[in-house]
Amino acid sequence: MSVPETNPSPPAAPARGDEAIPALQRPVSSVWGVGEDRARLLARLEIFTVEDLLLHNPRRYEDRRKFLSIRDLKVKEAATVRGTVVAAGVKRFKGGSRSMFECVFEDGTARLHCRWWQAQSWMPDWYAVGREFLIYGKLDDDKKPRTFTHPETEYCEPGDDEFIHVNRIVPVHPLTEGLTARVMRSLIWRALEKFQDEIKEPAIALDLKTYPARANAVRMIHFPEELTDVEIARQRLALDEFVALQFQIQSRRKKFEALSKALPCGGDNRLMKPFLASLGFKLTAAQASVLKEIRTDMGGLHPMRRLLQGDVGSGKTAVAACSALMALEGGFNVALMAPTEILAEQHFRNFTKWFEPLGVKMELQTGSKKTFNAQHSTLNTERSRKIATSNQQPASLFIGTHALFTAGFDLPKLGLVIIDEQHKFGVAQRETLVRKGNYPHLLVMTATPIPRTLGLTLYGDLDVSVIDEMPGGRGAIKTFVRTTEKLPKVFDFIREKISSGRQAYIVYPRVDVADTDKDIKAVTKEFANVQKALSGFKAGLLHGRIKPAEKEAVMAEFRANNIQALVATSLIEVGVDVPNATVMLIENAEHFGLAQLHQLRGRIGRGAHESFCILISDAQHPEAQARLKILEDTNDGFKIAEADLKLRGPGELLGQQQSGAMRLRFGNLAEDLNLIRQARELVAYLHS
Ligand code: ADP
Ligand code: MG
Repeated sequence: MSVPETNPSPPAAPARGDEAIPALQRPVSSVWGVGEDRARLLARLEIFTVEDLLLHNPRRYEDRRKFLSIRDLKVKEAATVRGTVVAAGVKRFKGGSRSMFECVFEDGTARLHCRWWQAQSWMPDWYAVGREFLIYGKLDDDKKPRTFTHPETEYCEPGDDEFIHVNRIVPVHPLTEGLTARVMRSLIWRALEKFQDEIKEPAIALDLKTYPARANAVRMIHFPEELTDVEIARQRLALDEFVALQFQIQSRRKKFEALSKALPCGGDNRLMKPFLASLGFKLTAAQASVLKEIRTDMGGLHPMRRLLQGDVGSGKTAVAACSALMALEGGFNVALMAPTEILAEQHFRNFTKWFEPLGVKMELQTGSKKTFNAQHSTLNTERSRKIATSNQQPASLFIGTHALFTAGFDLPKLGLVIIDEQHKFGVAQRETLVRKGNYPHLLVMTATPIPRTLGLTLYGDLDVSVIDEMPGGRGAIKTFVRTTEKLPKVFDFIREKISSGRQAYIVYPRVDVADTDKDIKAVTKEFANVQKALSGFKAGLLHGRIKPAEKEAVMAEFRANNIQALVATSLIEVGVDVPNATVMLIENAEHFGLAQLHQLRGRIGRGAHESFCILISDAQHPEAQARLKILEDTNDGFKIAEADLKLRGPGELLGQQQSGAMRLRFGNLAEDLNLIRQARELVAYLHS
């Protein structure tokens, strides 16, 4: 089937003739008009093959069936007119550092002035008097002369293929310097003429009456009869992409299932019963029902591969603990992996408190700490292998960062791997991890509420459980957006809360002040200011460049309330759990992603007291303000994640590497939930 991903490098030139290569995979130079120079320009747009060219998605369309007269142009309404150059010239300002190119067009009804700041040397020749152009833009205002600033123009070269460019809806494609809209349009037209019949239906036939055939859709996306055709064509092509993606995902899972038999980790409640009795709270209905799903998986035929989603504070750790106990009851080892040392250590402390009374052995391994070397020596030695395989060793829970898996750690009888805060790890890492053990059960937990669309693509090979209920008895979180001007008042408020026994987080985007962005505050610099503002109380400092031992000491002091205010970077974003902390101040809030702010805010509102999150931002941009307003309005992580996805695209949520792996030309991860669902069902149907 056709490949949705972009070819990373130009295909090797065929040894003799192109016939050996499928038509669409041939180099783009097989399109008439593409020589070496143009091929090089096209490569800049990642167009290497004929198919790349055919799938070069237009960025907009112009309806050129009827041109507007210059006289009829309206303010702020983009339109295309057709005019002839009657005058043109360069104006210079203030000692010649600034220049403007101005060109006057006429179409028989009126004149239109077009101006471009910073005149380019080629402009006077290009816009020579007497030449005819199509001009796309909008009037700056209703003053005379009528003026367009920085319009797009297209030289009307008299020629045979003029019908491609006028009297129809025309596409305007993404371009690169040296390649005009008109040339690009002509190349694509020619590619269609020559290769349209080679565009085959994908191997996974869609057979859907609702969508045009793929070949038609490709033509329609470039040369639609009506503007409404564009969306129909886009959906068809997007569906193909999602089907290809789902096919990959589901094949991976099939292969995995065929390979592996599950270890029996259903559990017998021997440890679980006393654990639940000792917890001090009752599991929420949501936690209990997720556990039931997990138990079914871990006692089943295939290794579990489950994603556990739950908003911050929903109680995923307790679910992880119960899952671990199921495997431990079966005599299997368990590994729990966290993205940061702080979090690994916090888990280690919690689990020790919970599991030690049950007689479960606990080990911690982070970059800076190894507690299990003593017992197992380095786990690769002859002796340790003997111990570990002799079955004398009681099953243990290993907690750590990814150091757990990089330090030659190879644990026999590994029954369950739990990955906390999954979004910090890449998909590839997840794969290596599971392969390391002998296909143990896998539970990945994420607090980043993943919008459905991403969940279905990125985690399509995992089953998904959702904890959609918060434990009761929590104080509400109120969120406010304020400007820097209000900071003194905000610090008064924080003093007041601390005086009444609470604690606070104060968060800055940077560790150090960089010369480039003086307006962005940094912890190391602001720490002194915070200490001054909160004199009489103790503040602690936490950021990525502090030594692990020191970090741990600061966290311990904060937990013990010997420190009242923790001044930190987003390092504290994940997992940290101090219920007495009820105030969070975040400065330069516009520098964080929405999902990230929500994560940060999840550090408060964990106890019975009411909590307050104050976001400081002087951002003027309406979009930045709208984003922060969303946080003021809702605490629902899913709503926030959807909004973030729409505003910032998937890169923010996925990290660069992962979003790069699923670059889509036509599919839109923020909008196409229905198409993704269809694709998933189609592929599942064909696979069954
Ligand atoms: P997250 O899902 O963000 O990892 P945690 O597991 O850290 O959340 O839980 C947040 C807090 O809620 C912890 O202090 C935990 O002990 C508590 N908690 C978890 N489950 C319950 C419950 N069913 N009832 C009351 N408190 C709970
Ligand atoms: Mg957690």
